[in-house]
Formats: sequence, C-alpha cells, structure tokens
Amino acid sequence: MNTTRRDFLKLGLAASTALVPLPALAQGAGPRAVVVGGGFAGATCARALRHADPRITVTLVEANPTFTACPFSNAVIVGLRELSAQQFTYDRVTADGITLTRGMATAVDPHARTVTLADGTRLGYDRLVLAPGIDIRWGAVSGYDEAAAAQMPHAWQAGEQTLLLRRQLEAMDDGGLVVISAPANPFRCPPGPYERASLIAHYLKTKKPKSKLLVLDAKDTFSKQRLFQAAWAELYPGLLEWVPLSKGGNVTSVEPATRTLVTDFGRHKANVANVIPPQRAGRIADAAGVADRTGWCPIDPVTFESKLQPRIHVIGDAAIAGAMPKSAFAANSQAKTCAAAVAQLLTGGTPSTPKLINTCYSLVAPDYGISVAGVYQPSANGQLADVPGAGGVSPQDAPRATRAAEAVLAEAWFRTITTEVFG
Ligand SMILES: Cc1cc2nc3c(=O)[nH]c(=O)nc-3n(C[C@H](O)[C@H](O)[C@H](O)COP(=O)(O)OP(=O)(O)OC[C@H]3O[C@@H](n4cnc5c(N)ncnc54)[C@H](O)[C@@H]3O)c2cc1C
Repeated sequence: MNTTRRDFLKLGLAASTALVPLPALAQGAGPRAVVVGGGFAGATCARALRHADPRITVTLVEANPTFTACPFSNAVIVGLRELSAQQFTYDRVTADGITLTRGMATAVDPHARTVTLADGTRLGYDRLVLAPGIDIRWGAVSGYDEAAAAQMPHAWQAGEQTLLLRRQLEAMDDGGLVVISAPANPFRCPPGPYERASLIAHYLKTKKPKSKLLVLDAKDTFSKQRLFQAAWAELYPGLLEWVPLSKGGNVTSVEPATRTLVTDFGRHKANVANVIPPQRAGRIADAAGVADRTGWCPIDPVTFESKLQPRIHVIGDAAIAGAMPKSAFAANSQAKTCAAAVAQLLTGGTPSTPKLINTCYSLVAPDYGISVAGVYQPSANGQLADVPGAGGVSPQDAPRATRAAEAVLAEAWFRTITTEVFG
C-alpha cells in the first residue's frame, strides 16, 4: 500500500466515523462506495468496482427486488416475447460480495456524505454513484399525469406499463387507430419510439390489417431515420404514418377520458394511445443537487463525477453524456469507466482518459434488424464527443439476409449484456 492510500484510508475512516450519524448500516472496513440504482448502469458499476479492487466495500441500493429491462420490451408489447424474459434478480450481483440494500434512496447529504433511504436507513460513503435512470416529467404534456398513464400508457419504464399497452392493443378491434407520441430530445433510447412503431405496425399488419398507426413527433429528425423510413415504405405502406414537428406532430396536451391527443394543428382521437412523454433524471438526482436546470446531470467525461457536487458520480440515462445516447449499452460502458475511475480515486490513483462505445439495435420486424454504433472520448470542451470516423449505421441498401442477421445479433447482444450485468 502506498502512503497516499494509507493516509486516505486513515482520513476516510476517521472522517466517516465522525460524520455518519446513527443508525448507519455497518458497511465494512475498506473505502466505501455506494451505488444507487441497480439497472444497466448501477449493477454494472457495483460489480466492476468489486472486481477493480475487492478492498472497496460496495453497497448497491435498489428499490425493486427484480429488475425489468426495457430493451426488447417493444417485442413484449406486440406479443413476440413474455415480460418474464425481461426480468432479472440480483442473486449473482450479491454473490460478488456486494451488499444489496433494498429500498428507495430519498435524500443525499453531500457534506456529511450520507444517503438516506425511505425507511430512514442512512449509509455513509466515500464515493457515491447515482444511476437512477429516468423519471417522467408529469404535466410537461398538459393533462399527462400518473392517472392519464393508466389510460394512455407510456411504457417507457418496463413492467406494468408494458403489459397495459399490450392488453390495449390486443383488445382493440380491427380497423382501430393507434397513436404514438414521441418527445423532443433528449430522452431514453432515441431509436426506441421508431422501433416500437415498427413492431406495432408489424402486429397490425399481421393481426388487425384494417387498422392504422399514426406517429406524432415533437422532432423533425430521429435516429436511424433513413433506415426506418425505407423499411416502413417497404413493409408497412399505407399503415404507418409519421408526422414530424413541422407538419403538426408536437403533442401539446392529452384528454385521457377520450384518448385524444391535441397538437397545434388538430386533434387525434385514438383507440390506443401510447404517450412517450418528456423525461428527466431519476428524482434522487434532484435531491442530491446533481441535476441542472435541464433536469439531467452534468458530469466530468473522464470520471463521471458530477460537475455540481464533489464525490458524487452520475452514470446511465441520468447523465449528460454529450454525444452518447441514453441506452443500456452506453450505461454499461459508462459504468465500467466510472468504476475504474472511482477505484483509482478511492485508492489515491489517477483515472485514465477513457474511450467509450455504444451500439443500438432496433427491430423493424421480428426478422429485420438495423443498428447504429459510435465510439466516444472526452473532448476539449469537457463533453463526450464522437471519435471521428469510428461509428456508423447499417448500410442503406443491404439485402434482407443482412437485416435478418442483424435481428439475430440484436438478441445476442441482449443475452450478452444481461448475462454480464445480472448473470
Ligand atoms: C422501449 C425501450 C427500448 C429500449 N431498447 C434499448 C436497446 O435496444 N438497446 C439499448 O442499449 N437500450 C435500450 N433502451 C434504453 C435502456 O433501457 C436505458 O438506456 C437503460 O435502462 C438505462 O440504464 P440506467 O441504469 O441508467 O437506468 P435503468 O435501467 O432504468 O435503471 C435504474 C434503476 O435505478 C433504480 N432506482 C431509481 N431511483 C432509485 C432510488 N432513488 N433508489 C433506489 N433505486 C432507484 C430503478 O428501480 C432501476 O432499477 C430501451 C428503452 C426503452 C424504453
């Protein structure tokens, strides 16, 4: 052990004994990392921290007993997959020597370096990693509150909402109108609304062919747009209509009682309405003082340490990660970078400059996949920027065999990442 680390541990332990009020959970003798949120970002980070240095005691705070994954939940909505295939326990995470604390983190005291849970439990930390994912901005679309979501599901956090949208589609008569509203940037999973539109179009084409799907968009452009639109023209002509912002796509209010979506240009009464609303970082980010006025969390791109609060790191969807999209792949990549940096910082080392990666697959039909990939690095302006020439999208004119191969790769990616994070 070098002098810096020994001094740090002495100081850290002395400080923690003095600062953590009782009743604080006993968390072991090494430097203490607490991770809030056991999703793609948080569970990856907790495990990577233990692997980086087993002397670090790692506590993972997670509200739910099982994790329900969003990637592939669009396939659940249209009956191609069961929700159980999306659900993962924390058994293997705890087997790595991580202490799992079940509960909702409700407060952070950055000065005392404590996290408080809804039941009053307090945890002391030397470094805190927040990975809470997203919260819905209720009311940002006028009339869209939690009660409205029971009529017009968002299904943007997988679970009951996913099943509700599925049941509504199943119950709809042939000849019905399905409306999806997509939000302005930034939001979780940029290609997600268009994958969902594609799979719902596939469902309608095969099960309810007299029906129609309208996508009302608060943007004029979207991820993998040329690929999606070429596939829609080929697979779903006359069935799926996309209305961009400039043609009246921005939904300003909803009327849940009649499943009506209102834009500046008109009113659309749906049989099934899927409102994907504006979002923000999970609420603990606000409580910790790490979210800025955008609702998201500015971070240092080398360490993912908050630009607003020292010793608190933010990863996954909650972070402002520059050119990186809000995806499970990105969350996993950020978590490993952050864990390596936190392990260095806790033991007196210097974090090294990272390169991060992302690939997002989307299904346009069950046997038709497309993808976008990117590589990112910290730039001079303190953001994560694209490494020029390192990314790309699926070729525009690929044969169907290539699309089928990408659909298989998408499944393989999901199996690989969920095995790495939860298996
Ligand atoms: C329909 C859809 C399809 C998608 N498809 C893909 C895809 O194909 N590929 C891809 O890469 N990404 C995809 N995504 C995006 C992906 O799901 C997210 O980017 C990813 O889940 C972000 O990970 P996270 O860890 O930041 O958040 P989450 O995975 O949401 O995890 C957050 C966790 O924190 C917990 N939590 C939150 N607050 C607290 C608190 N205060 N106390 C305790 N626990 C808390 C939650 O319970 C949750 O378990 C998709 C998303 C959607 C909606």
